Amino acid sequence: MREALSTELSSEGLEDVEDFIEGSEGESSMSLERVRRASDLMQIGNQAFRENRLEDAINCYSRANSVKPDDPVILSNRCVAYLRVCQVLRRRPPSVSEHSPLSGLDPTIHAELALKDADKVINFRGDSAKSYILKANALIMLEKYELARDAILSGLHVDPMSDPLKALERTAASTIRSSGHGKPERTDDFDCTVCLKLLYEPVTTPCGHTFCRSCLFRSMDRGNRCPLCRTVLLISPRTCAISVTLNNIVKKTFPEEYAERKLENESLTNPGGDFMPLFVMDVVLPCEKFHLNIFEPRYRLMVRRVMEGNRRMGMVITDSASGSIADFACEVEITECEPLPDGRFFLELKSRRRFRILRDWDQDGYRMAEIEWVSDICPLEGTTERVQLQEVIDNAAEYARSWMKKARDEAQQRQDRVKLLELDEVESMMPTTRDPELYSFWLTTLTRRRSSEKLELLRERDTIQRISKALVFLRLEAQTCIIQ
Ligand SMILES: [Zn+2]
Ligand SMILES: [Zn+2]
Repeated sequence: MREALSTELSSEGLEDVEDFIEGSEGESSMSLERVRRASDLMQIGNQAFRENRLEDAINCYSRANSVKPDDPVILSNRCVAYLRVCQVLRRRPPSVSEHSPLSGLDPTIHAELALKDADKVINFRGDSAKSYILKANALIMLEKYELARDAILSGLHVDPMSDPLKALERTAASTIRSSGHGKPERTDDFDCTVCLKLLYEPVTTPCGHTFCRSCLFRSMDRGNRCPLCRTVLLISPRTCAISVTLNNIVKKTFPEEYAERKLENESLTNPGGDFMPLFVMDVVLPCEKFHLNIFEPRYRLMVRRVMEGNRRMGMVITDSASGSIADFACEVEITECEPLPDGRFFLELKSRRRFRILRDWDQDGYRMAEIEWVSDICPLEGTTERVQLQEVIDNAAEYARSWMKKARDEAQQRQDRVKLLELDEVESMMPTTRDPELYSFWLTTLTRRRSSEKLELLRERDTIQRISKALVFLRLEAQTCIIQ
């Protein structure tokens, strides 16, 4: 079967050799005589190739190459001749080989020589589809189908309309399928080698490998190397660009599957209102502002997804007694995200509102939760209870103002700039007193509380209760003068 396939493959774009043109690259430094000599050898070689005397042709090209090294036309023609030898050897039926064995001619060696030439040709003519056709053919001869696919993709980058490349791509894909190198259910070769799915937002690395953007950076969370060839990569989600051409090819060729991939990706970045990725660390109350350094691979992945979505995640603590996560948590918004060169993130966050966790599960190493938003039981507008609540709030606000002023004065006296900055931040988070629940939470953030106390404050559903607790904390701190 492989024989039959390779016969088809190597014909694509390799029907003939090129004629040598004098006066091309790099000849000024070379004597005219040598150029003439190379040209003569090439003519003889090309004639031998066309008469199917392949060994003679290779001989002439090699001599031309030593007269005029690194000439892309010479190398390209020799590569074609090597490939043709492979093809002929592969085409020989076993019965013929048994009767007249060929000594010294090995298709693998010729394919390896062809690959070497093809790589050199790419160095000189990286903008020509033919260079990639040569390389892909050599790799297919070597049965390195995955690498051949990479070469075909690189070629399609250069020339998306190349018919030989498209034909190669089809045949390579069917070879991969029938020889069990790929997943049998796939009918194309635009797979990402990390997720084994259709490429979504493809990124090509400097080492020439293509992956889904999310797959590449997820893999790089565990070290800055190419997932395929282990080359060290100095790229980051911020500096790397999605290959628009390839993305368009994928989108046009497989519209339905592409739509599916898009949906899949969006469900990870925008899980929907009732689902929340969780950062397990500590209890956070609404109206806090703080910073985080994200270095764990699982949270890097989570933060990237969060940043592509609505920039929100949940903060929760693990219960030290049970080992499971707490029942209440708080939604936080990433207001600043600074990706560091080593892949970490430095985040500024603001906490927004609390929720209860209904259930949670592991997703790609971090926790996802189904949640339910929780709010205080608030008396209706116009009722006496509502008026009472507003009075409590207004009184508390007045106390908070004087408390803040006192704290600020003391910090000023001590020239405690850290404390002053902290007070500025706290003040910047102050909500309007028209939102009693949020305002009551803000009051509790004025003093430092233990995690267990904060968790109780999250569970509390009576605004007045929360305010009175907050006032107790404030008075306590004012009395004992532990404003630091
Ligand atoms: Zn992928
Ligand atoms: Zn690579």
